[in-house]
Amino acid sequence: MSTSTPQKFEFQAEIKQLLDIVIHSLYTEKEIFVRELVSNASDALEKLRHTQITEKDLFDDKAELEINVASDDKAKTITIQDFGLGMTRAELVENLGTIAHSGSKAFLKALGEGDKKNTNLIGQFGVGFYSAFMVAKSVKVYSHSWREAEPGHVWTSDGAGSYEIEEAADQRRGTKIVITLKDDCTEFSDDSRIKEILERYSAFVSFPINLNGKRVNTVQALWLRSKNEIKDEEYTEFYKFQAHAFDEPRLRLHFSADAPLAINALLFVPKDNTEKLGFARTEASVALYCRKVLIDAKPKLLLPEWLRFLKGVVDSEDLPLNISRETMQDKALIEKLNKVITKRFLKFLDDEAKNRPETYAEFYAEFGLFLKEGAAMDFTHKDALVKLLRFESSLTEKGKTTSLGDYVTRMGSEQKEIYYLIGPNRAAIESGPYLEGFKARNLEVLFCYEAVDEYVMSNVREFDGKKLAGADHADVKLSDLPKPEGALSEAETKALTEWLKTTLGDRVAEVKASDRLVDSPALALNADKFMSPHMRRMMKAMNKDGAEPALHVNLEINPRAAVMKRLFETHTAAPDKAKLVAEQILDNALISAGLLDDATPMVARLYKLLESV
Ligand code: ADP
Ligand code: MG
Repeated sequence: MSTSTPQKFEFQAEIKQLLDIVIHSLYTEKEIFVRELVSNASDALEKLRHTQITEKDLFDDKAELEINVASDDKAKTITIQDFGLGMTRAELVENLGTIAHSGSKAFLKALGEGDKKNTNLIGQFGVGFYSAFMVAKSVKVYSHSWREAEPGHVWTSDGAGSYEIEEAADQRRGTKIVITLKDDCTEFSDDSRIKEILERYSAFVSFPINLNGKRVNTVQALWLRSKNEIKDEEYTEFYKFQAHAFDEPRLRLHFSADAPLAINALLFVPKDNTEKLGFARTEASVALYCRKVLIDAKPKLLLPEWLRFLKGVVDSEDLPLNISRETMQDKALIEKLNKVITKRFLKFLDDEAKNRPETYAEFYAEFGLFLKEGAAMDFTHKDALVKLLRFESSLTEKGKTTSLGDYVTRMGSEQKEIYYLIGPNRAAIESGPYLEGFKARNLEVLFCYEAVDEYVMSNVREFDGKKLAGADHADVKLSDLPKPEGALSEAETKALTEWLKTTLGDRVAEVKASDRLVDSPALALNADKFMSPHMRRMMKAMNKDGAEPALHVNLEINPRAAVMKRLFETHTAAPDKAKLVAEQILDNALISAGLLDDATPMVARLYKLLESV
């Protein structure tokens, strides 16, 4: 038979079945066909680049190594053309007539070991081409091999049962695929729709891609270049493009690793934490690439939840991809990648904190909440994360912070626990009654101002073998201080506390002399040791209409305070007035602790007291 007349080929029965799977169920999105055909074009150009090294006589040797995409919304077609190595008649039959045969894989096999490392071939499964039939009524593949002596051909099929090949004159080198779109797929003849798809999946393909004459891929795959060649502006440009961002990145980490897979990663911390600004929860958005082609823009399992604020790219050449190239075959491997990248990022933050403390402090002020979330919830990385936490303390200046590590170096040999207090701000904590006992004993107390801190501290539990203890928790014990002149004696104190308990009745669980008070006359502690005053406030806030959590308070009094000495005198001399004073002292302590639920009775009582002045 002459090669110039059309020749018809039937797909084999198994191939028909496979074709059916590819067209109807392999890919989650129809738009994937653009990625697949562009990847094939890129492979064809890459193969030509290799062939050029040894072969001097190439057909159409002025043709540029580029990919041209043309959309025609009148004719409802999309055309993808490359000036790569093309296919002969036999190659058309072999590569496009047999499904699951990858010419690219065969090409790679034929290369020497050294060359293999330098190739950037994407194809491996031999199914991607058929994705065109998800959107095509018919597909025409015009191809001319790089070999001068071979004629050009056109391969035509509707993807149903057969295909035809016939000779075609006036071909440029390489392959031109013309897709006539199905009636419900005409969106793919729209210039802006195709641009969006090309930018999503193929933005970093190594060869120029032009869409209707306009270059699409202008930003390089920076993550594969060597760090010291890249300027800051290039990183910023890349970040803006890749993360669809308008800000400048705050921090960046560019690294490669070899185990468990060869990976190249370029990660950015944005300038602002949008969750903090009140926007919706940030979605994980470090994208996973394989050989510069997007696999998944938002892989959920690539990084832990608390790293969802990161932007950037992770690329691995030899990811064991699922045949649709949308997911990985191996879940365990994703977990390993997750560990490697997370560890590397934690190390990076640790270095930043040491080497550029001011930059780190700014980062922490914006993104510290994520580190707290991780410290409280991610057991695997808890220790590294707790080291990165920062707090103001009774020993830092306002606005300056300390790490738990530094706190521990300042602890005296007697001190066994790390103390913290939770309050809305520094002034509130410093003016409350809880701090003074710690100050008097030179014990440092960390100041926590954020709503989550109570939760974080109770989940973290300990650091460096030392328990974290809330300074307003009832079970914290402090050493004795020398008693100053003029304090109530032990017997007097005992009499007064017993009287107070009887007088205040059910409003208090226990009354005792305090070891934490220096100047203030009294303080209230939640008798429930698992619930600090702050936690109770939170529970109340969350529980607006429901029942209030029952209040169990211990009242601690200061036998050195003038008010207590006076009360001791009046409690026998003028018991009625003393009772009013006792109740007022309790209310004052509850106010300081944020535990006074209803101030109305207090107002009436105060008027009574004022009458007696
Ligand atoms: P894969 O890319 O995984 O090998 P495909 O189904 O996408 O599988 O393509 C099958 C084969 O067809 C490729 O391996 C290649 O040999 C050939 N091929 C596809 N597109 C082109 C092209 N544009 N130029 C040259 N050869 C191509
Ligand atoms: Mg392919």
